[in-house]
Amino acid sequence: MRILLVEDDKVLADALTRALVQSAYAVDVVATGEQADQALAAQVHDLAILDIGLPGMTGLEVLKRLRARRSVMPVLMLTAFDTLADRVRGLDLGADDYLAKPFDLPELEARVRALLRRGAQTTPVIEHGALTFDTVARRVFHAGKPVELSARELALLELLLLREGRVVSKEHIVNHLYGWNDEVGANAIEVYVYRLRKKLEPYGCEIRTIRGMGYLVERSHAPAG
Ligand code: CA
Repeated sequence: MRILLVEDDKVLADALTRALVQSAYAVDVVATGEQADQALAAQVHDLAILDIGLPGMTGLEVLKRLRARRSVMPVLMLTAFDTLADRVRGLDLGADDYLAKPFDLPELEARVRALLRRGAQTTPVIEHGALTFDTVARRVFHAGKPVELSARELALLELLLLREGRVVSKEHIVNHLYGWNDEVGANAIEVYVYRLRKKLEPYGCEIRTIRGMGYLVERSHAPAG
């Protein structure tokens, strides 16, 4: 999952980025409304965290332009104070949720998860055979025992499981796993798929390569009961 963070307060932006990257999200940061507008037009993000008070174009204007392009991307607005006027305008313009500063990181992360879940129409726990992916704890379990995965492997597995039964292209994976500042080696995705495949093989979760198209995890049949 890839998040665009629009925040001109560098200290706050850095703190949020650290927390989100730790939770295995790819994060891109911009500090102006104009940059945000451009970045959002590329349509590679799964969610935007948008500060209202920005130099130049405001967050509300960015949101208005995003919705005018008929994008349904979930947007979490950040407001400097809990002003009713900003909140109402934001929601009217199509924000999905808002947080007033100052806020606690766990609350921001909980709202991010809720919005991403809404977009993907999944429950907090994705089940695949005997594997369970807890999107809240950001952990994977097999028959109740934790499966150790790196942040990137976890993010890759999430992408594949959210599109269970469908081919996920390499381009989609690159777009949702990496931010602008991440270097993506030529074979990076192959390497992660290889590692993840090795780790999941014992648990009966198979990642198929569909030549020229991408990768696929077949739909699992939930165990009876
Ligand atoms: Ca600001």
